Amino acid sequence: MNTQQLLDKVEKRLFIGGEWVDGAAGETYEVHNPATGELLVEMASGTKDDAIRALDAAHAARREWERTAPRTRAEILRKGYDLVKERKDEFAALMTLEMGKSLTEAKGEVDYGADYLLWFSEEANHFYGDTNHYPAKPNRMLTVRKPVGPCLLITPWNFPLSMATRKIAPALAAGNTVVIKPAKLTPLTMQYFVQTMVEAGVPDGVINIVSAKSASDVSGPIMSDPRCRKVSFTGSTPVGSTLMEQAAEHILRISLELGGNAPAIVFADADIDLAVEGVKAAKMRNIGEACTAANRILVHESVVDEFAEKFAAAVSAMKVGNGLDDGVEVGPLVEPSAVDRMEELVADAVAKGGEILTGGKRIDGPGNFFEPTVIRGASRDARVFTEEIFGPIAPIFTFATEEEAWEMANDTEYGLASYVFSEDPDMLWRASDNLEFGLLGFNSGVVSDASVPFGGVKASGMGREGSRDGMLEYTEVQMIGVRDPYTKN
Ligand code: NAD
Repeated sequence: MNTQQLLDKVEKRLFIGGEWVDGAAGETYEVHNPATGELLVEMASGTKDDAIRALDAAHAARREWERTAPRTRAEILRKGYDLVKERKDEFAALMTLEMGKSLTEAKGEVDYGADYLLWFSEEANHFYGDTNHYPAKPNRMLTVRKPVGPCLLITPWNFPLSMATRKIAPALAAGNTVVIKPAKLTPLTMQYFVQTMVEAGVPDGVINIVSAKSASDVSGPIMSDPRCRKVSFTGSTPVGSTLMEQAAEHILRISLELGGNAPAIVFADADIDLAVEGVKAAKMRNIGEACTAANRILVHESVVDEFAEKFAAAVSAMKVGNGLDDGVEVGPLVEPSAVDRMEELVADAVAKGGEILTGGKRIDGPGNFFEPTVIRGASRDARVFTEEIFGPIAPIFTFATEEEAWEMANDTEYGLASYVFSEDPDMLWRASDNLEFGLLGFNSGVVSDASVPFGGVKASGMGREGSRDGMLEYTEVQMIGVRDPYTKN
């Protein structure tokens, strides 16, 4: 299948109450290929009215879905998993076309994203409550977990499939209906995913998708409507903060997966080759456009020369290009403005004492390319230390003592991922005690999987996705107290 045939397969309209429809205002927006700048498609753009119609549909479908047997819900999710795996090449190509990541990484994301469908298809059947005696009263209690109600799910552009499945799968498994607002830079993967889930048997109204050029036109009216009971958002911290304020109006349940500024700490006793590989994976995965990206590489002064030399060599060997081409490891940034920002970050780091070991420049177009870059020795007030970089720039900083490493690592408003490289097993516990982050990779650049509770502390958000915890986010607890005539005080 060629690119045009694939694009033709993807629905460009909104999906509301089981029907594909044009937006009420008949408006559209453009989706471009970041590797070439070419127009890919025109997508229907939803309005406030569309958003409310989608919530109407989710609200109308909720009772029947929550009363559908868990095994039936599980089988639909499992069927969705099978279909996504069957369509792996199609999903991967769509992600590369609209977002830019290499085809190899896109295929990896299909497997990773599909795993949430499999995991939550299994969790759906194992959703236990609790029972107990009141300690000193003739009562017993039991708890039941109930679906929270219609959910608004807002997703980012950097992982177009997996950020969808890790919200939609637990929401549906727990018996909720959803309205999805995908990122406008990358709606195609989500549209195709919704088509796929409909084929898997999701009933009308259970999944609705309203793509829009103005995100707040969709989120605002839905969040102001008391029928919406939960918002789950993955994206930047400023938008998360705005949504949290809006959620206050009706005390909406809210889960936030926000930005990061991960430290990767390489101690003197680390296996340097392992650290180079781990940090490279954690930094350059997804063109550096990952919330878990190793943003600040903190290396002990006794090993920094060896690490910097090997790391710069490994990064400079990475092949840059259109993600559809063979062997490409680093694709384009998602937007032209992101390339401008990389230039600004490099200039700022150099002005603050940084030395460029490799890269440092934009690559002439077409496409939004920037060289994979390693910078050493910028001061701590450089923007590459204080901000989420979200691109292929890897800054190396130096520390002298363990205390200093923890202090530097925690010197950020964020608290999502952290990485530590050391051959000392005790260091694991010292790292765990000292690092204020929701995720810790120990001698590993990988911190995410459907089976683990993924999420951050501080300005990186609240709530967890994946694992049993990820399903609890979509439930409410109801306690039932029952008089027990047999228990005596
Ligand atoms: P973004 O905040 O700009 O957009 C995320 C989503 O929110 C998009 O769908 C967007 O259309 C929508 N949105 C934007 N403004 C809105 C508003 N006022 N009201 C409602 N919705 C709005 O983020 P992005 O640029 O798409 O994604 C990158 C960010 O996401 C980075 O900060 C990254 O760290 C973060 N991220 C976090 C995780 C995590 O799990 N913690 C995962 C991936 C990405």
